[in-house]
Amino acid sequence: MSFLKRFRKQSEPVEPEPPSPPPPAPSKAKGFVPPPPREIAPASSDPRVQRLEQRLHALENEIELVERSADPDSPFQQRITVLGATLSSIEDEIRRATPLERLERPSLPSTPIENVAVTLEPTPDVRFSIDGHRFDYAEEIDWAERGTQIVRGDLLPVELNVDPLIPTSLDGTMRAELAAHLDRSLFAFATDARDRVIEGREPPSGATLADLAQPCPECGDWQLWGGVSPRCLEHETRLRELAAERARILDERTSELEERQRQVEELPIQRRRVAQTLAEIEALQSA
Ligand SMILES: [Zn+2]
Repeated sequence: MSFLKRFRKQSEPVEPEPPSPPPPAPSKAKGFVPPPPREIAPASSDPRVQRLEQRLHALENEIELVERSADPDSPFQQRITVLGATLSSIEDEIRRATPLERLERPSLPSTPIENVAVTLEPTPDVRFSIDGHRFDYAEEIDWAERGTQIVRGDLLPVELNVDPLIPTSLDGTMRAELAAHLDRSLFAFATDARDRVIEGREPPSGATLADLAQPCPECGDWQLWGGVSPRCLEHETRLRELAAERARILDERTSELEERQRQVEELPIQRRRVAQTLAEIEALQSA
């Protein structure tokens, strides 16, 4: 927060230069000291004068926009307000998400995962059983265009029914969430078993149903086989996104403020350009 406060302090809108006595028409630029009174024909047929008058008009508009940018309803201040509101809502979301609210999830019984069998030929196949229920995952092989290179695909469930693994005491949302979790965790187990055998190692042994759904020490939600917590990962990703978005908005606000600062500093040059343009118009008209 202190960073933001510091930032806000530094980034207070720059006041435009104190206004000098209001100039006569046609210049709307405050602080512009006009040349001696002169008369400009409202519509000139000289294309050079027309071009200069267009330029004069554009310069005056630019100057007016910069001078107006201190007003709360000016486009500049409105952009700054929108950026500030966006920043606050991002920071609120970061605050609400930190720390991650802990979930209460039941553990599963230590029913052993048995008969783990992995075959690699002709295509990888992983089978195992839990409490007498059989599970089977197999890989589809995509033959690459030349017909010689094997592209490894994901395992796909051939035989999979998670329902008998879920304690009957669980129902409703918890049951559905555990079913979805076991679906992913069994896939992680089968993939790990396949990969170990491909690497010349033994498939996992001594694993139990409880290992497929350990409550995460951080967030309390179930971890996948292998100890990955999808909820923690998702949360970290979300926080990273929010931090990146916050940095982007801060950058945008800084550039807006710097751009306005540059425009304010350029005001005297812009006013000189107005004076020059007026002088050129006058010269052409009196020629
Ligand atoms: Zn977690």
